[in-house]
Amino acid sequence: MMAPFRLSGGRGLLDGAVRAVLFDMDGVLFDSMPNHAYAWSHAMTQFGLAMTAEEAYMNEGRTGSGTIDILAQRFWGRNATEEEKQRIYAAKSALFNTLPEAKPMQGAREALEAAREIGAKIVLVTGSAQLSLIEHLELHYPGFFRKELMVTAFDVKRGKPNPEPYLMGLEKAGVRADEAVVVENAPLGVEAGRAAGIFTIAANTGPLPDEVLKESGADIVVAGMHEVAQLLRQ
Ligand code: MG
Repeated sequence: MMAPFRLSGGRGLLDGAVRAVLFDMDGVLFDSMPNHAYAWSHAMTQFGLAMTAEEAYMNEGRTGSGTIDILAQRFWGRNATEEEKQRIYAAKSALFNTLPEAKPMQGAREALEAAREIGAKIVLVTGSAQLSLIEHLELHYPGFFRKELMVTAFDVKRGKPNPEPYLMGLEKAGVRADEAVVVENAPLGVEAGRAAGIFTIAANTGPLPDEVLKESGADIVVAGMHEVAQLLRQ
C-alpha cells in the first residue's frame, strides 16, 4: 500500500508515492553524535590537530581519512600518512569506546513506523564502519532493517558528501530518486542526498544552526525525528 505524499516549502517538491525512505544512522537513528564529536575532537587534539566539537559536527559523514586530512593540511601543511591516520583513528575509536552507549534517537522509531505505514522500503545509508551494526539495529529497532537494504562504509568508495552512498541506496531499493526521501542530520549528508537528486529532509538533532542545513541544500529542515514522522504521514 502506498499513500500519496506531499511536502511543501522546499525545492524538489515531491508529489507522488514514496517508495523508499533512506535513513542515515548517526544523529538520525541514534543519538550518537555527541560521543563522536567528543572522541574526534579529543583524539585529533592529542596529535596536535586542534579540532572543536563543532567542527566534528560540520564534518560528520566524511570518511575518517578525509576528516584527518582536512586538519593535517591546516596544521601540518600536508596530508596525514597512512600510519598517522591509523594511529589517530585508533585513538578516536579507543576514546569513543569509553563513552556510554548512544541511545536511540527520540522519535526515530515513530519515523520508521511512519515509513512502514506508507508502504515505503526502509533503507539504511551510513558512513559507519561498525561491524556489529546489523545486530545493534535489530536490538533497538527490531524488524525494520534488512541486510540487503543497507549501505555502509564497506560498500562505497567515496563517502558523503559524494552522492555514491545514496545512489547505491536507491539501487538496492530498486527505486528512482524521485520516488525516495532521504532523512539526514548532517550538512555533508544533506549535500550527498541532494547530489543524488533525492528529496532530503534534514532533522536538526544537533547543535548546528538550521541555516547550515538549509545552505547544504536541505529541501526542508525540521526540529527532530518526531517531525519527520509527521511529514511522512501527512
Ligand atoms: Mg548523521
